[in-house]
Amino acid sequence: MKTRIVSFALALLFITLLLPAGRLLSQDREHIAIPDIPGYTTLKCDFHMHTVFSDGNVWPTVRADEIWLEGLDGFAITDHIEYLPYKADVAKNFNRSCDIARPRAERLGLIIIRGAEITRDMPPGHLNAIFLKDADPLETPEWRDAIGAAAEQNAFIMWNHPGWTGQQPDGVARWYPEHTELLEKGWMHGVEIVNGHDYYPEVHRWAIEKKLTVIGNSDVHSPIHMSYDLGAGERRPMTLVFARSRDAAGIREALFERRTAVYWDDRLFGEERYLMAIFLASVEILNPEQTVERNRKFWVRISNSSDIPFELSIRKRPPWLEAPEGVTLAAHRTTMLEFKTIKTPPEAAPSLTLDYEVTNLVTMPGRGLDVALPLTIQSGGGE
Ligand code: ZN
Repeated sequence: MKTRIVSFALALLFITLLLPAGRLLSQDREHIAIPDIPGYTTLKCDFHMHTVFSDGNVWPTVRADEIWLEGLDGFAITDHIEYLPYKADVAKNFNRSCDIARPRAERLGLIIIRGAEITRDMPPGHLNAIFLKDADPLETPEWRDAIGAAAEQNAFIMWNHPGWTGQQPDGVARWYPEHTELLEKGWMHGVEIVNGHDYYPEVHRWAIEKKLTVIGNSDVHSPIHMSYDLGAGERRPMTLVFARSRDAAGIREALFERRTAVYWDDRLFGEERYLMAIFLASVEILNPEQTVERNRKFWVRISNSSDIPFELSIRKRPPWLEAPEGVTLAAHRTTMLEFKTIKTPPEAAPSLTLDYEVTNLVTMPGRGLDVALPLTIQSGGGE
């Protein structure tokens, strides 16, 4: 009997040793390779998510786990104030989802921000208030009182999914006098130009005109992998926050100062200065010094250390140069661009810039980022 117990224990030990322990005990966090920019750390955030405390289908700690696994840094759970379909099973408590998720988030090194979604008919529609101290005062019959209660707590308030087909059946966002009123009162600071799988170009244009912070959020209700094919490399939309510090105060300051960009579908949306800083921090010309000869080819190697494949489209070129019309600088690759001189290059041309538009770095609807990649040119002989 004793021998059997010993051999059973030995067998168990053997099996345990054979199992890949890391796989059993933990999952690995992904790294989102989007660089910091000069002066700021680039924090990846989602400020719009639901749990069973409104109409979401997960427990609050699951949101922290998802954020950690996908490599984001900060998040807000924003359960609806006015829509609680599970209230017979889950007690109404507007602060509870954040309180439950917070210890898990902090253990994972994540930044969690208290939020809620004010859920009204259009206008004004749905608005998220984040950096709340207490979500309870937002439960009040009049929408102006609800938004006012958030503003009183110095919350950052964003207009959610203005083009959502649930409120605009044609999917076209409309700006109402109520939104002008909110803007003038200082009760609206940002707007979702991307929500879930939708980008709203007209809303992007408003954000530029009215100086609203650009935001991209998932608005996820289900477990995240039911909405995004994470295994195939798809990502939720997220807001890149260019923060002075990696904490809630850093995110808050950056949001009010409009230092954000939206990352979604291999594209970035935002102000030229931030998209340019990300591009320059990601891309390097490995052989910028070229000897150019008449009627000869030369090759320029450009590396891209980021997760974003940069789509380049030519803007202009000197008449003596053949250049690729369009090229993709693939993520985590070095791409070779082939050029050819077609006439004698001018003798006195010590430098040359390759002028391209990066079409997936969107500075305004339909407009990419203009870049000029510098080369140093030595004229050689050649045929
Ligand atoms: Zn929502």
